[in-house]
Amino acid sequence: MLFSTKNMSKIEDLKKIELKIIQNMKCPLKDAAKNLVFGKGNPNAKILFIGEAPGAKEDIAGMPFVGSAGKNLDKLLQSINLTLDETYIANILKYRPPNNRNPSIEEIYRHTPYLIEQIKIIKPKVICTLGNYSTKFVLASFNIPQMKKIDGITKLHGIIHEITIDGIKFKVIPLYHPAAMLYNPKLRPVLAKDFLKLGTFLEQSNI
Ligand code: URA
Repeated sequence: MLFSTKNMSKIEDLKKIELKIIQNMKCPLKDAAKNLVFGKGNPNAKILFIGEAPGAKEDIAGMPFVGSAGKNLDKLLQSINLTLDETYIANILKYRPPNNRNPSIEEIYRHTPYLIEQIKIIKPKVICTLGNYSTKFVLASFNIPQMKKIDGITKLHGIIHEITIDGIKFKVIPLYHPAAMLYNPKLRPVLAKDFLKLGTFLEQSNI
């Protein structure tokens, strides 16, 4: 059987959140976007990757990480033998910001309640944050005003953290955003090394 009954209920619960965004969420980004970019992968995965926001290709496809950053992410996942079926991938923002600009604080307030619901349904053991925004959001324990107190990705990448939210423990591994190596090729070996660290951690902790 491809999906267990347990998995089916997660799929249904995620569908409800997706519907809630489509029916109730109010945000200028939503009005301008072509599609909602909710998430992809296995809802029963133990590893959740959180990116920043959809780009142009994701907006068209309605699917996260399908553009050039996504190609990099696919290669990095392959390098440690992780398949899409072993992961779930979502973003801080559910709709594309114009010209791929950074998310505003107001947008983070509007969009992250849905991300938190996704996390509560998926219940990952490990959250890999991609870039500054998701790293700060998760390491601030989803408390947006606290995000400014969290160091940036340059300092935190590759370091395994543990956080407890509502009594549930997560390992958090901040990683550079895979788009960063498109702009700065020097980050390519850094990301490769951090992914190897993630692979070793997953192997050793039997996740
Ligand atoms: N960058 C992101 O952070 N998310 C995507 O879905 C695509 C590019």
